[in-house]
Amino acid sequence: VTQNPQQPEVNIGLVGHVDHGKTTLVQALSGSWTDQHSEEMKRGISIRLGYADATFRKIPGADPPECYTVEETDEDGNETDILRTVSFVDAPGHETLMATMLSGAAIMDGAVLVVSATEDVPQAQTEEHLMALDIIGIDNIVVAQNKVDLVDRERAVQNYEQIQEFVKGTVAEDAPIVPISAQQEVNIDLLIDAIEREIPTPDHDESDSARMFTARSFDINRPGTTWENLSGGVVGGSLVEGKLTEGEELELRPGREVDEGGQTEWRPITTDIRSLQAGGQMVDEVRPGGLCGVGTGLDPSLTKGDALAGQVAGEPGTLPPTREEFVMEVDLLERVVGEDEEEIEEISTGEPLMLTVGTATTVGAVTSARSGEAEVSLKRPVCAAEGAKIAINRRVGARWRLIGIGTLK
Ligand code: GDP
Ligand code: MG
Repeated sequence: VTQNPQQPEVNIGLVGHVDHGKTTLVQALSGSWTDQHSEEMKRGISIRLGYADATFRKIPGADPPECYTVEETDEDGNETDILRTVSFVDAPGHETLMATMLSGAAIMDGAVLVVSATEDVPQAQTEEHLMALDIIGIDNIVVAQNKVDLVDRERAVQNYEQIQEFVKGTVAEDAPIVPISAQQEVNIDLLIDAIEREIPTPDHDESDSARMFTARSFDINRPGTTWENLSGGVVGGSLVEGKLTEGEELELRPGREVDEGGQTEWRPITTDIRSLQAGGQMVDEVRPGGLCGVGTGLDPSLTKGDALAGQVAGEPGTLPPTREEFVMEVDLLERVVGEDEEEIEEISTGEPLMLTVGTATTVGAVTSARSGEAEVSLKRPVCAAEGAKIAINRRVGARWRLIGIGTLK
């Protein structure tokens, strides 16, 4: 089976402060938003994590960087050559919890940090998002200095220097900074050039067991559908290893909570793969890259309303264990990111924390805080392997703030 050239092969996060131009940039790069997905899929996946696929192309005979384009034909009407399709995950702005950004980070192979040239650097989410990339360990980064059409040369240079100063000592230290105007589509070729060089398609071993992080789950049936016409539950998310094939069995962990004689217990769910969607098409097989939708044989009431979001899916018997408690090594940030910049106090026994593991977000109570590590008991269990990275959030005032990163022991 040859890879469908329209199926994305790499996931690129778009991060940065609200209004700095992330959504405008995705539009400039993807031409139109993918509209081939069924309405349900599109609605489903884009609510929490906006996304769009973009196919990068090359004008035959032209030199870099001018040869790079997203247009299907050049100025003379000749067809351009496909380089690869990438999937952009558009991180939500300030209105949403940092956790959503971090659950997106779990499926990102690289990131474009969008920074507006019209404001001082860094703005709050610019800093917070870069710190998240830093702790999640995403180091394939391109900085897009956006809105250069709105500033004069002097201001653009000054802003560029501020960006250089800001990324010093971070994971983006060596990242190229590309001045662009997403709205006026200026220097888009330079940006594609930088992305092609800095964010390569990751190597995947096809023989690895499939591992899918679910970000959404839904019931795609219209109200009043009779049972003969009912479609099984759908899960949407990102396959990070292996492949999924129509007709195969699928296990989801932690699964569902079962009540038996007053005792509750989480049990994995097993089903079969009835249909697959990727790159805007129905396919027989899915490989890593982009977001995919899996039609299952599950009762849609099980998948309704994101009930299975945050679960891990794969071949039965190959998934990491379900954990209702765990011990994690803890690396605290030096200070809270953002306006107040308070120092971060040590984690204490008994305090509640919000933890993001893969695409799962759960609240845990610290049962034992020791130096450099903490033991937590979770309200809702997670499926996670040893070494998994955990974003640790503490309630500060009215919101959860990122205070550090954990590594599952
Ligand atoms: P997001 O919150 O980061 O997704 O930002 P948006 O893409 O929604 O952009 C915020 C506003 O900035 C919108 O009104 C855009 O039209 C505008 N904008 C984005 N990029 C540019 C640019 O390069 N130049 C100018 N002049 N405006 C831009
Ligand atoms: Mg936006």
